[in-house]
Amino acid sequence: MPSPVRQKPVYRFAPSPNGALHLGHALSAFLNHDMVRENSGHFLLRIEDIDQTRCTPELEQAIYDDLGWLGLEWEKPVRRQSEHFDEYRTALDRLVEADLAYPAFLSRGETKAIVRAFEAEGRLWPRDPDGAPLYPAIDRQRPQAERAELLASGRQHAWRLDMEKAVRTLHSKLFWRESGDGQTGEIEALPALWGDVVLSRSDAPSSYHLSVVVDDALQGITHVVRGMDLFNATAIHRLLQQLLDLPPPAYHHHRLILGADGRKLSKSEGSTGLAALRAEGKTPSDIRRLVGLL
Ligand code: GLU
Repeated sequence: MPSPVRQKPVYRFAPSPNGALHLGHALSAFLNHDMVRENSGHFLLRIEDIDQTRCTPELEQAIYDDLGWLGLEWEKPVRRQSEHFDEYRTALDRLVEADLAYPAFLSRGETKAIVRAFEAEGRLWPRDPDGAPLYPAIDRQRPQAERAELLASGRQHAWRLDMEKAVRTLHSKLFWRESGDGQTGEIEALPALWGDVVLSRSDAPSSYHLSVVVDDALQGITHVVRGMDLFNATAIHRLLQQLLDLPPPAYHHHRLILGADGRKLSKSEGSTGLAALRAEGKTPSDIRRLVGLL
């Protein structure tokens, strides 16, 4: 038997150009880059710009500038999600054909109103691990004929995963391999906690969850290194990988850099923005120290 080809590990840093990079991004990018060095791997940069209403060419250029200044080198060409909508559509079609996705017609406002009315009666609407209300069952339970009519009328809609049905297709428990700063080892994925997650939006032909699993597979990513804020969402990614026959990478969710108020940094946090720190005269080594790396 020929020995298996030993492939080099493939890492990626996947920012969204909808705000300026801050110290949290720097930690992620440095960790990826350091692991690439230690393991003689590949380092890819992916621009997650499916939300065309918030992403701009200027912010994308700022990402290249900031990462270049930090001394990071990535392989070209860079994958930009906005250039691959047809690939996400193919993945969505597969889930629709398998009857695992349904058109969701409720607007954000309508969803909020339903939740508010329910909670006004002193009952608690179920929430996902991030605290967001689960999507109401109305569209999932809509009769087929009504669904077809609404679609034919051109009503704006998203597509959502029928979580219960999707979980029922699994023959065994799902796990992912984790080596990060929290729980490690084989982690059981519990996607049902997220309810009917969105697969494509009415204003964007894909969702973060769908495009991230498609891209990680298409780019041959073997190791996903990202912030702890995405630890729980990994359950959704494992489920989608299973439904779409995509190979699961290993995961490493790292600690988050918190702001002075103890909360996760946001993109509008000017004082921790890399460009602002650079303008103040900080060096890339200062940034490493600031994020707790040697
Ligand atoms: N684009 C996501 C973000 O900027 C990261 C997604 C990921 O690493 O899976 O938060």
